Amino acid sequence: MKPPMRKGPAVHRAAWVGAAAVAASASQARRRPAAAVAIAAAAGVAGLAAFRPRNPVFGRTLWHGPADGRRAAITFDDGPGPSTDEVLDVLAREGVRATFFVLGRQVDRHPAAVRRMVAEGHQVANHGYDHGILIFRGPRHVRDQLRRTEESVARAAGADAMSRLFRAPHGFRGPATAAGALLAGYRMAAWTTGVFDSAEPGAATIARRSAEALAPGTILLLHDADGWAPGRPRQQTADALGEICRSARERDLELVTLDALSGPR
Ligand SMILES: [Zn+2]
Repeated sequence: MKPPMRKGPAVHRAAWVGAAAVAASASQARRRPAAAVAIAAAAGVAGLAAFRPRNPVFGRTLWHGPADGRRAAITFDDGPGPSTDEVLDVLAREGVRATFFVLGRQVDRHPAAVRRMVAEGHQVANHGYDHGILIFRGPRHVRDQLRRTEESVARAAGADAMSRLFRAPHGFRGPATAAGALLAGYRMAAWTTGVFDSAEPGAATIARRSAEALAPGTILLLHDADGWAPGRPRQQTADALGEICRSARERDLELVTLDALSGPR
């Protein structure tokens, strides 16, 4: 498997592709103005879609649940990691079930945490194997990332532990991402609100932003580990979690897994 493409190089390459499209458009501008407009428009649409997790151009994603119910969902990306057990402790204490978009690489390091997720009624979902950006990858690469993570989860917690829900790293998707997900039998997920807990703004800020975001149907994005630094904890997120669960209760919202929020496909 190719080494993971990080966020910076992916953005750089997207900028170069955009520049090439502008050059191609300019070269056509005099003789074929309609072609020039089409090239520029297609590049613009593709560029915007790739970096917008909810944009449907590269496939529809689950990013919100029913707004007329009393349910919402909290989701965790990039784990399991050193903070996952503490996150699971808080969820158990609060009686809340969540969805964990795990990385295969992290599952290999912390298999017991995945067993615990399953035993305690949480949903395990796929975030790819190594957190590499998928915008410029083909469908086979995407499928391989999903399959490898499935294998890691199966080794850790059994063949049925992984649900068929996939969230691309950073939510960034390219033309082949949906095809790869479909090939592997997955539905794509995004989120309603991210509170930037990975920037570590303090537990109180994470709790306040989350409270402001919680409403019927909200899918909240949090992190129980770091996609690029496998050993790094997410202590502030763990510290904020009890308050987030209490905020949901104050709003009469039940926090559930994504499968429970979205219902049968
Ligand atoms: Zn991630």
